[in-house]
Amino acid sequence: MPELPEVETTRLGISPHIQGQTVNNVIVRNKNLRWPVPSAIKRILPGKTLLSVSRRGKYLLLEFPNGVLLIHLGMSGSLQVVNNDTRPRKHDHVDLCFANDLCLRLHDPRRFGSVLWTTEQPKHHKLLKDLGPEPLDKTFNGQYLWQLSRKRRVSIKQFIMDSHNVVGVGNIYASESLFRAGIHPRRAAGKVSLERYKLLARAIKTVIRAAIKQGGTTLRDFTGGDGQPGYFKQRLNVYGRKGEACRQCGKAVSHCVMGQRATYYCTHCQK
Ligand SMILES: [Zn+2]
Repeated sequence: MPELPEVETTRLGISPHIQGQTVNNVIVRNKNLRWPVPSAIKRILPGKTLLSVSRRGKYLLLEFPNGVLLIHLGMSGSLQVVNNDTRPRKHDHVDLCFANDLCLRLHDPRRFGSVLWTTEQPKHHKLLKDLGPEPLDKTFNGQYLWQLSRKRRVSIKQFIMDSHNVVGVGNIYASESLFRAGIHPRRAAGKVSLERYKLLARAIKTVIRAAIKQGGTTLRDFTGGDGQPGYFKQRLNVYGRKGEACRQCGKAVSHCVMGQRATYYCTHCQK
């Protein structure tokens, strides 16, 4: 599943080719994504210039003078920029063709992704209005997490993976950040100290920043190749390392399932 760092890498990869360009044509080969792709975009977008490509959580926001196209990659979606005459492959569902002969193409085998049009302020859109802060934003810090978590009995892992609290902390990033901060994933969120939350906020920023940086240097050419997203191969401390030696203390890394998600931690280093 594309996580926040992959979405941010996608944004950085596609923007230089399409920002400032005018849409010529919109092709919808299959509108049956998670929600139907609004057929009105075929009429509304041609002749309009793409002003900016931004991101909120895992949504890409393509801003036009008359509204915003919201794109979510779902479980298996990816975007690439191809020449207008590039033949579509199977699962290439939506094309935004621009006057510079390039085309932004959405590929999504499992069709859990979405393409939606809104004329309201994106921050008021029902899919975005309840999202917590961006992890790399200054407003996201230890004080914020500590304040928000008082009296909360939910586990710290579930707490930081809840997008109402902060966006973009996927399962791998949650395990890795909790390890770095020395917090046991089952600890009640309300029982974690301010000092630990400061470490945790810093750890979350570090792992997400590293993933974005790696995405920018290792992965894919957005104007060619297969445009397939993949997990960034970060050096992981605990995730996927059940039974292997903890890099910090040498004891075996533990594994459990929490909220149906694989969870990895060190019982010695995380309390
Ligand atoms: Zn350890």
